[in-house]
Amino acid sequence: MQCPMCRAPDSRVVDSRLGKDGDAIRRRRHCDGCGHRFTTYERVELTLPMVVKKDGRRQPFVRAKIVSGLTRACEKRPVSTDTIEALATRIERQMMERGESEVASREIGEALMATLHDLDAVAYVRFASVYREFRDVHEFMRELEDLIATRGSTPPRGKSGRSAGRPRSRSRA
Ligand SMILES: [Zn+2]
Repeated sequence: MQCPMCRAPDSRVVDSRLGKDGDAIRRRRHCDGCGHRFTTYERVELTLPMVVKKDGRRQPFVRAKIVSGLTRACEKRPVSTDTIEALATRIERQMMERGESEVASREIGEALMATLHDLDAVAYVRFASVYREFRDVHEFMRELEDLIATRGSTPPRGKSGRSAGRPRSRSRA
């Protein structure tokens, strides 16, 4: 988008978020030419992306599936229905904010895992064990060790650069 100050043809998007009503995306832009910062609002269609499954099939995004996945993972855990609903809304929003027509089911899975990782360790491991289809117990143990390391007092592998609270995105699409 053209810079309104210096008319340079390009500007960089530094932040995008969905507006409160969910019908506009607010973008903060930065002009590398003159350093001017400005905001644009883009209307969005309130449609969720189609979900592309591992085998290539497309399915509509169904919020209820997110809720049931989270509910299963959080069974008998101190997680309220309200919290689960709020998390499902957050995931739904994230998918809308991408503004793309399709999203890989893997990416939704990763978003769910990140959410659960921050919420409840047991729910996270439960979900991860089903979602990642651990091939053997060793793989499962490695994941557990990682989780303990990121939550423990000692920084993992002596490096402080790694952001705690986020699972590695080890995709296997
Ligand atoms: Zn400019």
